[in-house]
Amino acid sequence: MSKCIFCKIINKDIPAKIIYEDNDFLAFYDINPKAPIHFLIIPKLHIESLQHLQSEHTNLIGRLIIKANEIATNLGLEGYKTHINTGVKGGQEVFHLHIHILGSK
Ligand code: AMP
Ligand code: ZN
Repeated sequence: MSKCIFCKIINKDIPAKIIYEDNDFLAFYDINPKAPIHFLIIPKLHIESLQHLQSEHTNLIGRLIIKANEIATNLGLEGYKTHINTGVKGGQEVFHLHIHILGSK
């Protein structure tokens, strides 16, 4: 079994408040929200961080960002902040690439 906590969420080995799921992406509410609405969107493919992106990921990451906006819009957010922590020195705690989306209505 994967040790990655977000892979465990993808595999439904641990629960999460899932907002959206398709073959490539999963979005769920952050367990420790820093805004009235705070969710994370991840690719199902285990990529550790921005530092691990390869050119083959270009299409996936483009679609990830488009999907993030689609979900935020569907949640009623007229605007929002996005945040990506990269590497230990960048404050990253979970080493499965994720975008934080923070907003309020
Ligand atoms: P970071 O790696 O610093 O960008 O942030 C990781 C984020 O994952 C933090 O905001 C945590 O609150 C969040 N998080 C950690 N474990 C879970 C979980 N089981 N379900 C939802 N969010 C989580
Ligand atoms: Zn993972």
